[in-house]
Amino acid sequence: MFTVDNLKKSLQLFKEKIDKNKEYLSELDTPIGDGDHGNNMARGMDAVTESLQSKEPATIQDIFKLTAMALISKVGGASGPLYGTAMMEMAKASATTSDALPILEAGLAGIEKRGNSKPGEKTMLDEWAPVIEAIKNNKLNETTLESAVEATKDIAATKGRASYVGERSIGHIDPGAMSSLYFFQSLMEAGVLDA
Ligand code: ADP
Ligand code: MG
Repeated sequence: MFTVDNLKKSLQLFKEKIDKNKEYLSELDTPIGDGDHGNNMARGMDAVTESLQSKEPATIQDIFKLTAMALISKVGGASGPLYGTAMMEMAKASATTSDALPILEAGLAGIEKRGNSKPGEKTMLDEWAPVIEAIKNNKLNETTLESAVEATKDIAATKGRASYVGERSIGHIDPGAMSSLYFFQSLMEAGVLDA
């Protein structure tokens, strides 16, 4: 379940993980993209932190909304609008519930719609979908997070920049799936997801 406190905590942890792994995320984006995913996400999460600090949102919905707006306006890469749309859809869903599952499902649907994508195409959805499935079945743990990212190695990309290298993307982890792992880890550590 989301609360104002655990959502704020989650976003703070997410920012810390992105900062810590910025170089690694950009390295993952080098063979199959343009090497900027770590920088994109770090710039985005800096803007999120600044916005939350200056505006002091008091509801889950407002926190998600400000997060979405900061990501959409500050990240040039594909990941900004995609994460931003996820957060905007989570804001909308949180008007009627604070349960994590329906809120995260709304986020997933937002990414699919904005990205015109589905799981199985070597994108962040290949982390989001199995994680949400595991939450549904009460089976989420660290292994779920890691094996989903690892499994993106076997997929030939058909969406985003990585689709330009197609079959040659096989053997490489998708950077957006990796940053999404940090997002879900943050939710777990902040106590949003009981696992
Ligand atoms: P860009 O590709 O514009 O350089 P980033 O490097 O920040 O943007 O983000 C790349 C990540 O975005 C990919 O690793 C992938 O997970 C995700 N992505 C790209 N296109 C899509 C899409 N259509 N649907 C879902 N995720 C996508
Ligand atoms: Mg990139």
